[in-house]
Amino acid sequence: MPSTKSCANRIHRPTQPSIFKMKAYFQSILDGIQSTRKGMALTWKHAWAARNQRSIQNIQDPDYFNQKAGIVTLQYPQQQIPTPVNGRYQLHNEMDDCIVCDKCVKVCPVDCIEIDPIKATGLVGTASDGSPIRLYAAKFDIDMSKCCFCGLCTTVCPTECLTMTSEYDFSVFDVKEHNFEFANLTPEQAAEKRALYEQFVAEKEAAKEAAKTAAPMQAAPQPAAPMQAAPAQTETEQTNTEEKPATPKPAFKPAFKPSFKPKPKPDAE
Ligand code: SF4
Ligand code: SF4
Repeated sequence: MPSTKSCANRIHRPTQPSIFKMKAYFQSILDGIQSTRKGMALTWKHAWAARNQRSIQNIQDPDYFNQKAGIVTLQYPQQQIPTPVNGRYQLHNEMDDCIVCDKCVKVCPVDCIEIDPIKATGLVGTASDGSPIRLYAAKFDIDMSKCCFCGLCTTVCPTECLTMTSEYDFSVFDVKEHNFEFANLTPEQAAEKRALYEQFVAEKEAAKEAAKTAAPMQAAPQPAAPMQAAPAQTETEQTNTEEKPATPKPAFKPAFKPSFKPKPKPDAE
């Protein structure tokens, strides 16, 4: 059975570890209060500074990230952030400079450009860089809802008529409206140009056939034309003809001469 003295010691005398625990407990409360005070000071500082609006600066401005105070929320669309000059946003095609070369269609990784070219019967015009235009575009559609804004089509365009503009807001209610149509021909005009080219081709074929039919007739032997009387010679010519008898051609002599001499025959005894 434990003695009465040892029990009293255990009850009335606190141990060293429990003092440390109490100290740590109150220190945690103090830290919590201090951290809340710091956080709230920061919050109130920003809330107070939010009475003012941050000025709108281009992202490329060296001071862009130095604006630490003020409201940053833009009242779009009344306020807009300036876009970088090399930003890749909505596509635009200056059709008057497009030579309908089809390069943009071939390079597009998502096949969002569609062109319906019509051959012209001659030169249609010239692009601003001097490139000749020999095709019409009955259709030049870019489906911006498929576009991944890679910019490859603008890179390969030889006349630089296809560009990415700084227009980034092209939200619509119907996704079909994201199909941008750039063709500058009406359906009637396109049909007319197509018919003109078909007629041109038909005429060319007919001309070829006619040439083929006419060719054998030209190749057939023609009746010999009667010999025409030689023009009368003048007196002088007649005299010259009489005075100069035809000189005979010199006899042919071989250039090769045998280098040996035939041996003399021995005299018959
Ligand atoms: S930007 Fe890229 S994805 Fe968009 S149309 Fe041009 S090539 Fe196609
Ligand atoms: S690459 Fe340029 S010039 Fe060629 S079809 Fe496309 S937009 Fe027109």
